[in-house]
This record gives sequence, C-alpha cells and structure tokens, in this order.
Amino acid sequence: MSEMLTTAIDHADALIDLSNIVRNPRLGGHGKADLIRLERVAGAFAALYGQSGIAFYAVADTSLLHGKGLFLDARQHRALKQWADGGLIEVEPKADPRLLELAEDTGLPIVTGDLFKGHRREFPWLDGSDDAVLRPRPGPGGSVELVHVELPALPDWELSRNEEDDLLLQQGLLDGDRRLRKELLARLWSCPEPRCPRHDPHRARYLLLPRMMGGRIRCDQHGLDMVDTGPRPLSAQLKVIVDGRERHRFTVTAAEPCPVGRSAARPGQVDLSPWLTPDQRRLISRTHLVFRFHNDRLVVRDESRNGTGLRLRDGRTRPLDRSRDLPLGVGEHLVLLPGLELVRSGRRYPAELTAARTGGTPKARGSGDDQTATSAL
Ligand SMILES: [Zn+2]
Repeated sequence: MSEMLTTAIDHADALIDLSNIVRNPRLGGHGKADLIRLERVAGAFAALYGQSGIAFYAVADTSLLHGKGLFLDARQHRALKQWADGGLIEVEPKADPRLLELAEDTGLPIVTGDLFKGHRREFPWLDGSDDAVLRPRPGPGGSVELVHVELPALPDWELSRNEEDDLLLQQGLLDGDRRLRKELLARLWSCPEPRCPRHDPHRARYLLLPRMMGGRIRCDQHGLDMVDTGPRPLSAQLKVIVDGRERHRFTVTAAEPCPVGRSAARPGQVDLSPWLTPDQRRLISRTHLVFRFHNDRLVVRDESRNGTGLRLRDGRTRPLDRSRDLPLGVGEHLVLLPGLELVRSGRRYPAELTAARTGGTPKARGSGDDQTATSAL
C-alpha cells in the first residue's frame, strides 16, 4: 500500500488527510482505524481522474500513531509507524493547518471529510472554493467515490465559534511566515547533518520539504537550521489523457524546450503516435505544440497545422493563439482532438504562487462540461 504514498511534493497528485480517512467508518473496513480505507480512497481517486498510479502526500495527526486500540490489526499500526519513520508520511500534532499550508502553496486538492471550519480566517480562499476538497463517500455496492465539495462561506459568528476550538490558530500563520513559505518552495534547502536524507537536495530522488519552526527553516529530524543551496530548478509535469484516461506523463524543465507531436524526430520530443488512430494521425502535426519555461512560467506555443483548443477552468474552450508563447495554467486542458488532451498536473511554481488564490483554484479535471466543451471544438 506504501506505493501510493510520497513525500516528494512534485510527484503528488493530491494531499491526503490520513487520520480523517482511515478513521472514517463509512468507508468500510473494521475498527476505529483501518488502512483499507486509504486503499479504497486511492481507487476512487484513480477512477475519478482516469489515472493508473496515484501518489498521495499524506499528513497524519500524532494521535493516529500513538492512539491505543485504534487499529484492530496490529500489522497496520506497525506499517503506519514504518511509513512515518521512513519519511513516507508527515506526522503533525494537528494535521489540518499543515494540509492547508501545503494546499495553499501547491494548489493540490486535499482528500478529506473535513470542511476546515476552524481555519477559514487563516485561509480565506477556502470560503466558497469548489476544488480545494475532495470528499469520500460510500458509493454503490460497497464502493467509495470521491466528490468535489463546495465549501460554504461561513458567517462571521460561525467563524469565531469554530476558531475557539482551535488553539493552534492562536500561534498564527502570519504574513511573514507566508512569505517565508514561498521561499521555502522556491529554493533548495540542505540539512547540515551529512547522513540526513535532506542533506543533498540536488541529488535526492525525493524532494522533502523542510519545515518552518518558529520563523526559521529547520530539519524536523535534526532540529538544525537548513542551508539555502540555491534556486529550485523549474519543472512542470504534463499528462496525456486519451478518452478520459491518463496514458503518459512527461516533464518539462527549464533546460530546454519540449516539443510534442506525432513523431520522435526532434531530440526530447514527446511522441503521441502510440495513442493515435490512422485518421487522427493526419490531424496531428509532427510538431504540434512546444512547451518551455519563460520568466519562470510554463508557456506553450501552437505550431500545428490544424490548431489546438484551450479549455479553461470554467469549462469554456477557445482556440489557442498560433505561434505565440502563452502561459498554461494549472487545470487548463489543451485539446488536440476530441478525446486527446494534455493537462498540467496540480503543482504550481514559485512565480505563479504569488498570483495564486486571487482567481481561485483550478477547476477539477473531469468535472462539469468536459463533454460539451470537447464536442464544441
Ligand atoms: Zn536533517
């Protein structure tokens, strides 16, 4: 089950409120806590997005690891402890504020049954958001489904009542802390302890985020101040979606442009031909689109003969302007043909984070007007 977990934020498809999920008796399983619920929710996520492999960035409350008699199956409890020791999950005194920080900084959705009522003042973008939270619910025949929940805007009196329950808020996530958190994602940090998995971030397979403690950036394993080793290399991940199912992922880096089309002629080109029927091949150009980074933003240029549609977060589709670099936002779909789309995965990048949360989070893939938008092309 551990293969669905990652603490490499760049590889994550979603954040998961682990304690909330494994303690939800409506998701099947036995006892107060059952890891089978995590497995079911991962299956529901895969079904929702037509994805094969899932990578959840999980945050658990300390009480899940130390609570007595939560798990009927002692092996599950041991597995959970191993995940925590191995750095596969984050463990926090209270998971909610950490999940919300991560969601704010990355734009990733949170899988949880929680509506975060006690945190609306600190994270005002939650009010009225319809894509911050994916909530599990029992589906037909004992299955589990995930649905996007619109978080209702709370009246002021309800805010204060919920906040009283939440002492962590008193410590405050101040504006200065928010700025520091952006730095934290924009740069690579090294723990001075040479044996630490966070010692050499340039060579690490997984990028573990350091933690902010008391206004300083520290290694939570060693309590040492982390050393800034320079800006974090830019990269963006794109998914090839064929008939609603993910078939391939590729990464665009700042090092060189990334062409995409129906051939592998150019170096580094992403070849779409394995997924094309002979009829479709005629409609896709050898080099159809070119991705690159410009001023820290991912941009795309349409070099195709037949054009490409851009489906915006609100479900409307318009033709992509030809032969110009245009920024591609998280949650925007490039529609090459009906049933053939390229989608940017959830994570945002430092230059984009400053603009994030002013225009809302991206619309979820697969929800809403997909069908209409594709056929309107
Ligand atoms: Zn360390």
